[in-house]
Amino acid sequence: MLKFSGKSVYKGIVLGPAAVLKKTDQQVRRVKITDVDEELHRLLLACEKSKEQLRKLYEKAVKEVGETSAAIFEVHEMMLEDEDYLDAIHSMIRTELVNAEYAAAVTRDNFSEMFASMNDDYMKARAADVRDVSNRLIQNLKGEEELDFSELAPSVIVAEDLTPSETVQMDKEKILAFVTVHGSTNSHTSILARMMNIPAIIGVPVDLESIHSGMQVVVDGFSGEVIFEPDGTVCNDARKRMQEEQEKLTLLQTLKGKENVTLDGRTINIYANIGSVSDVGYVLENDAGGIGLFRSEFLYLGRNDYPTEEEQFQAYKQVVQTMAGRKVIIRTLDIGADKQVDYFHLGKEENPAMGYRAIRICLKEQAVFRTQLRALLRASVFGNLSIMYPMITSVEEVEAIFEIVEEVKAELEKDGITCKMPEQGIMVETPAAVMVSDELAKLVDFFSIGTNDLTQYTLAIDRQNERLDEFYNPHHPAIIRMIQMVVDNAHKEGKWAGICGELGADAELTKNFVRMGVDELSVAPSMILKLRKTIREMKISP
Ligand code: PEP
Ligand code: MG
Repeated sequence: MLKFSGKSVYKGIVLGPAAVLKKTDQQVRRVKITDVDEELHRLLLACEKSKEQLRKLYEKAVKEVGETSAAIFEVHEMMLEDEDYLDAIHSMIRTELVNAEYAAAVTRDNFSEMFASMNDDYMKARAADVRDVSNRLIQNLKGEEELDFSELAPSVIVAEDLTPSETVQMDKEKILAFVTVHGSTNSHTSILARMMNIPAIIGVPVDLESIHSGMQVVVDGFSGEVIFEPDGTVCNDARKRMQEEQEKLTLLQTLKGKENVTLDGRTINIYANIGSVSDVGYVLENDAGGIGLFRSEFLYLGRNDYPTEEEQFQAYKQVVQTMAGRKVIIRTLDIGADKQVDYFHLGKEENPAMGYRAIRICLKEQAVFRTQLRALLRASVFGNLSIMYPMITSVEEVEAIFEIVEEVKAELEKDGITCKMPEQGIMVETPAAVMVSDELAKLVDFFSIGTNDLTQYTLAIDRQNERLDEFYNPHHPAIIRMIQMVVDNAHKEGKWAGICGELGADAELTKNFVRMGVDELSVAPSMILKLRKTIREMKISP
């Protein structure tokens, strides 16, 4: 048994096979060889195997994401036929009498450095491709099997780290749990794990070289423990606890269709947070009253170009139609910081969390913003849609946004396209927005407090920095007082205020929030019935 502890991001217990995702460069040892011909033959076979894998990937990608996105696999295949690249590996094997893995690794480093130092952006980007294709070649030389998600049985994904764009591309049905060596509890990948309702443990000090795909593993999201190759007793215990968890979930199902009302009669809205159209299934399964936060930026991740107006319109329309009259709050693009998209060319920043992101990009690059707004105004005819703007810091920003929205609406009407002006609210997630919330409340229809960023900016703690997790305290009195201030200022103007950050699902605070007058909590779908239970069992007066 190999036992590790990490930080739990989502509670739950799972037993299943591991799928080890090795994204880091393949590590190799230099070995002296005696038979050059045999080494060159091994290289040839590995090249052929790599090309065959790439051809299959290309065909699969063409079907799933189209020719343009699939072209990258063709480029990789061509690299394996490039004479300069192959000559470099061959001559190293011949002259230095080294193993093919080592020659490929050195060539990988030399070529990628050469590309990275070029002035042309396109050529610079090839550095990552040369690393990728060389790592595939080395993997095949070592005889390691590639992780193929399409063939994968439901597994525990074990990786160094996962970015939001990698996570969204995974087939959710195939993921039993996440285990990562790095990552912070407040990152979007952790949020996605909660969203998918699967146990996730981060900061697990496992050496990926010491484990392999297919190994059995127990992931205990309650204790933060991860046990590879568990013995019979651990397996039996895990199975028993999985069964108990299932029974608790079944019990919660009896709350479906019931109101979120306290024993003394106060009702509050419990909505769901989602990141994609396919998440709406979880929303309905868990009987949410609406969608309080649709992180629309996930429509922009994991692709090579901007989603068109039509693509976005179809996505928003489908969500509002499926929700059949229940409120759907769609947040406009919140790209930047940890949610990076190559085609936005955002450039490297010293301090991305405080940088060019969210509404700042939308106000500067209005074509992108206007396209999204057109799609939203068009979709709003099909149901109960509201728009929400992220990262607001001032009244002036809201005024500028409203002006753009009016222009977009006028344009659509001029073109004879049916549209409707939805309710418009803002995320309150900067201390500045909190401090001017009295003025902002006069302008907008509602507030939704983003406690993830509000905690980051108030406590001056980068939410992505895993070393600061122990200092990141959303229970800090400063945050609680800010929430109270925002709720009071909203109510003075007859507006509602909710919480859509992760704190909204914090069971320790649910009763406090209800007593503070919070009108809505928007949480991961899996938390809805749990919150409903707490609310139905509490009284406002202690
Ligand atoms: C927040 O900041 O609390 C929030 C809900 O937005 P995100 O986590 O997507 O930044
Ligand atoms: Mg935020």
